[in-house]
Amino acid sequence: MDLWRRERKGKMVHDNFHNKMICVPGPIIVGAGPSGLATAACLTESGVPSLILERASCIASLWQLKTYDRLCLHLPKQFCELPLMPFPVGFPTYPTKQHFLEYLESYAKVFDIKPSFNETVKSAEYDHSLGLWKVKTMGLKEETEYVSRWLVVATGENAEEVLPEIEGMTDFNGSKLHTSQYKNGQTFDGKKVLVVGCGNSGMEVCLDLCDHNARPSLVVRDTVHVLPREMLGRSTFGLSMWLLKWFPVSLVDRFLLFVSRLMIGDTSRLGLCRPSLGPLELKSMAGKTPVLDAGTLAKIQSGQIKVCRGIKRLTHHAAEFVDGKVENFNAIIFATGYKSNVPSWLKERDLFSEEDGYPKKPFPNGWKGECGLYAVGFTKRGLLGASMDARRIAQDIERCWKAESKHLSNCSRFSSSTTVSTTTTTTTTIMI
Ligand SMILES: Cc1cc2nc3c(=O)[nH]c(=O)nc-3n(C[C@H](O)[C@H](O)[C@H](O)COP(=O)(O)OP(=O)(O)OC[C@H]3O[C@@H](n4cnc5c(N)ncnc54)[C@H](O)[C@@H]3O)c2cc1C
Repeated sequence: MDLWRRERKGKMVHDNFHNKMICVPGPIIVGAGPSGLATAACLTESGVPSLILERASCIASLWQLKTYDRLCLHLPKQFCELPLMPFPVGFPTYPTKQHFLEYLESYAKVFDIKPSFNETVKSAEYDHSLGLWKVKTMGLKEETEYVSRWLVVATGENAEEVLPEIEGMTDFNGSKLHTSQYKNGQTFDGKKVLVVGCGNSGMEVCLDLCDHNARPSLVVRDTVHVLPREMLGRSTFGLSMWLLKWFPVSLVDRFLLFVSRLMIGDTSRLGLCRPSLGPLELKSMAGKTPVLDAGTLAKIQSGQIKVCRGIKRLTHHAAEFVDGKVENFNAIIFATGYKSNVPSWLKERDLFSEEDGYPKKPFPNGWKGECGLYAVGFTKRGLLGASMDARRIAQDIERCWKAESKHLSNCSRFSSSTTVSTTTTTTTTIMI
C-alpha cells in the first residue's frame, strides 16, 4: 500500500530487456500546448496528478517555434484565457505572441506543470486485458513505454504542416517555405514572393512582406469571408458571440455581412469572393474560419499586394495560373495550414476519425471516448474550445479518481500484491 501511495505522487520505473516502462498513476496527456497545459492545470486543481509527454523541448512549441514574429492573438484576450488564470491586467486587447508565451510560462509555473520533453509519442493502444493505455515514446536516446488508466490527446489541430501538391513543385528554383518556417520579411526585401493560401496567416504574411519592402502576390483559389477585425467599436468576434445569444446564426451572419459591406466594401472587386454560406454558418458547418482583416485589404486596394488565381503549375522561376497568366517569383510561401497527426499514432478508431484525425462526434460531444480516452483542443474553436474541453475532462477524471481512492482506502486493510504481465517482453508489478 505504501508503494501505491508513493506511486500516486511519482513514477514507478522498471527497466527490463532495455525497454523502460513507467506506470503513471494519473492521466497521460500527449502534447504540452495550451490544451495540454489547461488540462494538466484543471487536473492539478482537482487533486489529480498527470504526466505530459511532449515531442518538442519546450511548452507551446507551435507558438514558440512555428509562428512569425509579428503574430498577435487573432481574437481578443478574454476569449483566449486558459482556465483558472486570467491574463495580466496590463496585457493589450490582442496580446502579442511574446505576451502569450509569457502567460503560458507562468501558467505552467503556477500549476507546477513539468512536461517530459523530447518524447515523441509513436503509438498508444488500449490493453483490454489490463484495462490500461500503453503509450510508447521515442526520446532522444531511448524508447519508453508509459502505462496509465487515462489518455488525454492534446496534440492539436496544427500538429503537421500541410503542403499542396502542385505540378512542377520540385522544378521551382527559388526558396519555398511553409508559414511555420516564416519569421519575418527581412530576407525578402525587394523580392517577388508568392503567398499560397488566403487564411489569417497568408493575409498577415503578405502584410508583413509589404512592411519589409517585398512584393507579395496572394493566391486566392477559393471563396473567402474577410471581415473587419472590429465593428461598431467592439471586436467582431465578441460582437458575434453576443448577438448569437439573442438571434439565430443566419440573422447574425446577415448583420455581419451588411456591416462588412459598409466598412470594407465589396471584397469580390479585389478578387476575394464570398462563399454562399455566411461566415458563422460556414465556420460551424465546415470549420472554415473567416479572415479578420488586420490591414491586408488596404494593401490589396492600393495594389501593393496582387491577388492571383489558383496555380496551374510551377516552373524554374515562375508560376502559371489557371487563368493563363505567368509570372516570375523569387520565393513561395505556403500558408496552406496544418493537420492533426492523431491517426499516425493512436491505435483507436472510435473517438477519432482516421480520415482527418478529429473527433467523429461534433462539438460539444467530441471530448470523451471509451476506456478513459479523451480529446482536448479539437473543436475548431481555438483556445476557448480547448478550455471547455479541459474543464470537462478534469471533472470526469476527478470523479473516477476519487471513487478509486475511496475504494483503495477501504481495501487498505487487506493490502496484497499482484503481478501483471504485459503482452510484450516487459513485466511490471503493480501494487494494489
Ligand atoms: C498562427 C496561429 C494563430 C492562432 N491564433 C489563435 C488565436 O488568436 N486564438 C485562438 O483561440 N486560437 C488561435 N490559434 C489556434 C491554435 O491552434 C491555438 O491557439 C493553440 O495553439 C491550440 O493549442 P493546442 O495545445 O490544442 O495545440 P498546439 O499548440 O499545436 O500544441 C500541441 C502540442 O502537441 C505536441 N505534439 C504533437 N504531436 C505529438 C506527439 N506525437 N508526441 C508528443 N507531442 C506531440 C506538439 O509539439 C505541440 O507542442 C492560432 C493558430 C495559429 C497557427
